[in-house]
Amino acid sequence: MSDDLHDLYQDIILDHNKRPRHYGALADYTHTAEGYNPICGDKLTIFLVLKEDRIEAVQFEAACCAICKASASMMAEVLIGKTLVEAEAAFKRVGELLSSELNLEADLSVDGEIAALAGVRKFAARIKCATLPWHTYIAALKG
Ligand code: ZN
Repeated sequence: MSDDLHDLYQDIILDHNKRPRHYGALADYTHTAEGYNPICGDKLTIFLVLKEDRIEAVQFEAACCAICKASASMMAEVLIGKTLVEAEAAFKRVGELLSSELNLEADLSVDGEIAALAGVRKFAARIKCATLPWHTYIAALKG
């Protein structure tokens, strides 16, 4: 990865950490779950509004590190408006992004700004920070 791209990725993560999108509890949710990553101490709660097969709203609250908060913020942006099938595909692409073998071309196939998380791959302990929001989303779906 070039240094310029690395800086860009860093800026995106810092921006989402500083101004997380879709942050705050949601009163009228249909699904919710709490996630905890003991390695880092990240805690977050995901709130979903599902209407039939489509995700109408995603909000989250968190006491967590910058990587986790940025990942949750980007995840909310990506999931809103998707069907459950589309969301499952997005979840899989993020998992592939964070597994270390992929190249930049594959990184760019992920949704939205999530490619910015590719830098996390170099730090094995932080991968759980990035995946916690997604696993919590799945837990919320399963009730
Ligand atoms: Zn963390």
